[in-house]
Amino acid sequence: MSRHGRHFLQIPGPSPVPESVLLATSRQVIDHRSPEFGELGLEVLAKIKTVFKTKNDVVIYPASGTGAWEAALSNVLSPGDKILTYETGHFASLWAKLARKIGVEPIIVGENWRAGVDPEVIERALRDDKSREIKAVCVVHNETSTGSTTVIKEVRDAIDAVGHPALLMVDSISGLCSADLRPDEWGIDVVIAGSQKGLMLPPGISFNAVGPRALKANETAGIRRSYWDWGEMIAANKSGYFPYTPATNLLFGLNKAVDLLLDEGLENVFARHKRFAEATRIAVQTWGLENLCTSPRHFSPVLTAVLMPDGHSADAFRKVVLENFNMSLGSGLSKVADKVFRIGHLGEINELALMGTLAGCEMGFELAHVPHQKGGVDAAMRFLTSSAA
Ligand SMILES: *Cc1c(COP(=O)(O)O)cnc(C)c1O
Repeated sequence: MSRHGRHFLQIPGPSPVPESVLLATSRQVIDHRSPEFGELGLEVLAKIKTVFKTKNDVVIYPASGTGAWEAALSNVLSPGDKILTYETGHFASLWAKLARKIGVEPIIVGENWRAGVDPEVIERALRDDKSREIKAVCVVHNETSTGSTTVIKEVRDAIDAVGHPALLMVDSISGLCSADLRPDEWGIDVVIAGSQKGLMLPPGISFNAVGPRALKANETAGIRRSYWDWGEMIAANKSGYFPYTPATNLLFGLNKAVDLLLDEGLENVFARHKRFAEATRIAVQTWGLENLCTSPRHFSPVLTAVLMPDGHSADAFRKVVLENFNMSLGSGLSKVADKVFRIGHLGEINELALMGTLAGCEMGFELAHVPHQKGGVDAAMRFLTSSAA
């Protein structure tokens, strides 16, 4: 087993954390009621709006993305409310399940694990909702289980075409900072995000970006909540503080991570993700393997899910890669368990890290006796040199 050198963490989140972000988190804890903390809070709460492309409030929870899912729903809905969902994969399905558990009724209008949301399906379902019972449309921006990215603007347009008053809520837990998202411009009422994917932080904090219509809905939302309530949070945030102990050291890290993203420029960050995703797809195609996402307009910039040839175990392949090359690849989740493996190409990654990742896959196919064509790594290299700045 080769355990020397650095571990390649190529799962689609948690993603590797830049050295400077790790160092920023690695300092003595401070008093979260001190003036020093207040300054940090104000700075970080202002800066985070830039990466969310919003002028509205962004709430930060010491919680995983799942907590921010629950927060988003419980802050705008009442028991028995109907929401419209579309199953693009495992995460869309889990969010609907969570909704059911807290007393909301999800209506799943479509299912496709090989593409993003079909906006026509959303439009039709909203048109049929004559009595306007649907309170929110809840979709996943980047479906991390399949490698499909939904075009959120099309979902907004579908809602507008009907003139339906439902809120638009978007899980961008793995999309934020890797795939463009414009909450204000596209009229997204709540964005849900997490720290451990495109934001390049360790796991542990998550976000709700809250638009004015969502804040209004919050006033009458009947689901019981305390910890998750936006009201006290937003009130305390005005002076840079939090109603309970925040994840102080992750906020030091967040401050640094946002600086890195803004220094590179968000549009450059998105372009880098797109280019690495394309290099990865070229390798996959050369290997003669199939991308789980079959819809080119929905190809994810964050990850690529690769289907194994029939009769071959994705998990056995991942094990060979881990044991021989010290690299973690993402597993297939629920319906596609053992059928796909996922290559994460998000966050803190450059050309050579991507090439190492693809080389680990190509060598792994050989060792695990997975039928494939050679030359995927070569083809990806040619693409990267021909598209170099
Ligand atoms: C990772 C992820 C989640 C779950 O986040 P946790 O931090 O594991 O709770 C939800 N949705 C999407 C799209 C994700 O990628």
